[in-house]
Amino acid sequence: MTAPMIELRQISKRFVWRLDLASRLANLLGAGIRERAVHAVNHVDLGIAEGEVVGLVGESGCGKSTLGRIVAGIMDASEGEIRFRGKALSAMTEEERRDYKLAVQMIFQDPYASLNPRMRVEDIIGEAPVAHGLIRRSEMGEYVEKLMQQVGLDPRYRRRYPHQFSGGQRQRIGVARALAVQPRFIVCDEAVAALDVSIQAQVLNLFMDLREQLGLTYLFISHNLAVVEHISDRVVIMYLGRVVESAPTEELFAAPNHPYTKALLAEAPKLVAERRDYTPIKGEIPSPLDPPTGCHFHPRCPFAMARCKTEAPPLREIAPGRMSACHLNEMATV
Ligand code: SF4
Repeated sequence: MTAPMIELRQISKRFVWRLDLASRLANLLGAGIRERAVHAVNHVDLGIAEGEVVGLVGESGCGKSTLGRIVAGIMDASEGEIRFRGKALSAMTEEERRDYKLAVQMIFQDPYASLNPRMRVEDIIGEAPVAHGLIRRSEMGEYVEKLMQQVGLDPRYRRRYPHQFSGGQRQRIGVARALAVQPRFIVCDEAVAALDVSIQAQVLNLFMDLREQLGLTYLFISHNLAVVEHISDRVVIMYLGRVVESAPTEELFAAPNHPYTKALLAEAPKLVAERRDYTPIKGEIPSPLDPPTGCHFHPRCPFAMARCKTEAPPLREIAPGRMSACHLNEMATV
């Protein structure tokens, strides 16, 4: 097996809620209020091969966007190591790190919020490649026109502003801006969630065409299983900061292993009828500030046993290419 293009080893991210002035004053009087930490991402291992599309799924607050930002180099991990083409980011020179940040680009959910409303499209797309020395300023016009065509935008509109485009077109501008620095890996964070369903399909097809044309690798973050099924080679499911299951897409949808994955499938309305025999998920996702002990899923799991409340199940290989974190896998039947 070839080494993954991007490898995450035991990546964790903690956010600490600092005490405000009132709490600090209350502590002077003996209130004993303590700072609270959220383990947004908790010891995640993940390898993504060159050319692969990995779908990262979970409910809001499960840590998937935080993980995406860490992969894209927008946020640092609290612990763990990221390797790009076999080299740890921590061991990279400044120049290698800069190259990594160009090679890995992120596309966000809200195309409008991520585009500067006061910049013309040609500057939004062309500024970074000029700044990074990938093209000369004199080449910018032609370069931007080519990129606009590649993402399905009319280059005649390159002097317009973002508000003069529709939602789907704005997302295409975001894609062109990401492509402008010639990336190898794209992190899409809910990249079609804000678009109408018909436009979603068009943008998903654009991602797939670009994969073919440019050999891109994707980490596709979404809460929408139907979208992930359409686009991914492999699916990784996260729950409260932990990876609970990972499998090739077809296998995961045909025979999910983890009770949380089964519950997610039961809730996905657009999936085919034969997948309806799972029990829908019960209750709300617990607060990441105070996650349940043991298996984080135990308060919502229909199969929870006594040990689930105290012992976190490790992520284990359950079949070639398939991983799951559930104590049921150690028993005779699942
Ligand atoms: Fe359910 Fe226990 Fe498996 Fe967690 S470890 S998913 S609580 S059976």
